[in-house]
Amino acid sequence: MDNSKLVNSKISDIKTYLIETKQKGNFSDSTRKVETIGYVVVEVITDTGLKGIGVTYHEVGGEAICEFINKSIGHLLIGSSPLETEALYDEVFAYMRGVGRKGLAFCAYSAIDIALWDIKGKIFNLPVYKLLGGKRVTIPCYASGGWVSYSTEELVAEAQEMVAAGFKTIKIKIGFDGGKNPNEDSKRIHAVAEAIGPDIGIMIDANNAFTSSTALRLAYKLQDLNIVFFEEPVFADDLPGLARFRAANILPCASGEHEYTRFGARDLIVNKCIDFLQSDITRCGGFTEARKMLAIAQAYNIAYAPHGFDLIHAHLLSAFSNGVYLESLFMFNELVEKTFTNAPKPVDGNLTIPDRPGLGLTLNYDNLTYYGSVEKRGTNE
Ligand SMILES: [Mg+2]
Repeated sequence: MDNSKLVNSKISDIKTYLIETKQKGNFSDSTRKVETIGYVVVEVITDTGLKGIGVTYHEVGGEAICEFINKSIGHLLIGSSPLETEALYDEVFAYMRGVGRKGLAFCAYSAIDIALWDIKGKIFNLPVYKLLGGKRVTIPCYASGGWVSYSTEELVAEAQEMVAAGFKTIKIKIGFDGGKNPNEDSKRIHAVAEAIGPDIGIMIDANNAFTSSTALRLAYKLQDLNIVFFEEPVFADDLPGLARFRAANILPCASGEHEYTRFGARDLIVNKCIDFLQSDITRCGGFTEARKMLAIAQAYNIAYAPHGFDLIHAHLLSAFSNGVYLESLFMFNELVEKTFTNAPKPVDGNLTIPDRPGLGLTLNYDNLTYYGSVEKRGTNE
């Protein structure tokens, strides 16, 4: 089609889909058992026939996200240009300000924004990373799993499996007995370190389990290991606790998967809470907001190691020099394979961004459950 027609595309519809997988194993972190994981998939459709796809991840609340898009905010975009991502962001942010600056509502808009960037890429026949100014196409990933519910033997075996798959950095969960047994955590981490050797970087994720003093007690026991960062050592909203942990300067501190927008990133950074920002763009505002968050992080020399969804975050890391690692969550492999027909996989611990327009991803509609569209206002037709 004539490119000037595509450039003048207008948004004509938004559709929502759900996909979930039940976890067959025993997957608990320090504070939560994971039984179901899922995506809300958003398809933004234009009057020229171009479609963009966006995704947000959930453990609970997928239907609520679809309803919010279909009934509450999707209509604001109809008739607008998909290129106007800044203006659309500002309009929707103001419209939902009382209920939508964080949480499920913001997950909903994040998926829409990602779909708009996918359309932009398709209009200009370029991958999203090129639109963002990116250059590198091969991005380092760390393997992520190592659940607290595993026995030490299972934990060590999975760590060895990750290393055998070519990953140079791995992440395991800690916070045994809900964070009440840091000595056991220390033994488990040392067992993993001994099994995989000093050249493999280890990240540890406490999922909010500790107080800052307990986290520091544990950190002191791990000083001689190759620990890349200690993630969410305390409750995500306990910024003073994070700052106390980090000020001791025993291990680098990572947090941000539960923060939203540039304002959440700003608060973590100016309060001196983190060495690694982990904001997840499928929750915190999509590409439009993430660019601002990463710029703030750059100004403070803070690294970016996003939570989850490596296929989407890869485009962002291509463009930002402070982007260091993608997270390759073993638990999500089945869900990703079901959702897309052509999702790239990490090879030797690196993900290569596909040389295709937009995100470079194609939906597998056979596995998606259509939820509704803006026009139908959330009906299940
Ligand atoms: Mg985490």
